[in-house]
Amino acid sequence: MRTLDELDVEGERVLVRVDFNVPVDDDGKISDDARIRAALPTLRELRERDARLLLAAHRGRPKGRDEKLSLRPAAERLSELLGEEVALAPSLDDVPDGDVVMLENVRFEPGETKNEPELAKRYAALAGAYVNDAFGAAHRAHASTEAVAHLLPSAAGRLLEREVTTLQGILRDPQRPLVAVVGGAKVTDKIGVLSAFLRRADRVLVGGAMCFPFFKAQGHDVGDSLCEEEGLEPARRVLDGGGEKLRLPSDLVAGRELSADTEARPLDGVDVPDGWMGLDIGRRSASGYAEVIRDAGTVFWNGPMGAFELEPFAAGTRTVAEAVAECDGVTVVGGGDSAAALAQFGLADRIDHLSTGGGASLELIEGKALPGVEALA
Ligand code: ADP
Ligand code: MG
Repeated sequence: MRTLDELDVEGERVLVRVDFNVPVDDDGKISDDARIRAALPTLRELRERDARLLLAAHRGRPKGRDEKLSLRPAAERLSELLGEEVALAPSLDDVPDGDVVMLENVRFEPGETKNEPELAKRYAALAGAYVNDAFGAAHRAHASTEAVAHLLPSAAGRLLEREVTTLQGILRDPQRPLVAVVGGAKVTDKIGVLSAFLRRADRVLVGGAMCFPFFKAQGHDVGDSLCEEEGLEPARRVLDGGGEKLRLPSDLVAGRELSADTEARPLDGVDVPDGWMGLDIGRRSASGYAEVIRDAGTVFWNGPMGAFELEPFAAGTRTVAEAVAECDGVTVVGGGDSAAALAQFGLADRIDHLSTGGGASLELIEGKALPGVEALA
């Protein structure tokens, strides 16, 4: 992968693909600007190296032009953070001059998600070099992430570079023991990651609703727990091949329904009675996981241990998050909800690497090639 060290940018207008797909409230306010801030090192470096910036980004999944998914809020926030005016280009045919210009949502262009060469040519005509810093979009082969990279001198931005080296580093040469903590809602979302870590990690700790297909496969009662039916077969395969490394919870916290004021009670064991749902891992499981995590040389965590958004079911995720924060080894966290959990507990700045790309980080861990990264090889 070529990096910014190998790209001539002085005096050029550089097309920079960034991931500014940030949450915006109804009144147009950005509720979390982490992705914009994550791009600042690259943007500042390019400005210091005397480049002019033409930024390209997507927001949401528009079908054609849709003012509600304009990048104007992102352009305004970037302008505050960068301390420079950021002009928004209304269309590809109407790109204003200026040191920092941002294109409208690239997904307003019908060819963008089809990776259309004609559209890529129009992007390339606007700049003298291309930098991709949008790790969160690197698993997609789109015109602004893939095709355009072949048409200009191109390189990875600092964020993309750090994401790829950190995540590949965990796979290739981790400090041991390597502990993977995998949770979240659906086992089918995470099955590739589970398999990858069962090959490479020393311990794989499983939590969240994705436990229930495992428990069901083992013959336990899951009650009304969220239990993905399509997850049963994959869970069975993992159980057959998992061996000693794989750990599932041994106790749970159950609730009547998915709400904060529901009746809640601890379960000593993993059989969930009818009329109850398992909504968190239990105290014994959480402290057992925490012990393993604190002693790890490397931790990769993706997916909460329970319905952490609801206070009665947050303890398992909090215990795990605190252990990751306290671990002296290399700590890496991926996944939007896992990042939200860390923020909720005030622990986000105690993690070595908080990945900005959910899907992209999982695909990289699974060993898949990311089209946006391959194009920079
Ligand atoms: P990430 O975004 O970190 O990859 P996921 O999207 O896979 O994580 O899963 C997060 C969601 O799973 C959260 O909204 C959480 O409330 C939910 N969840 C986790 N465990 C349970 C459970 N036992 N029952 C219901 N929902 C759960
Ligand atoms: Mg999620």
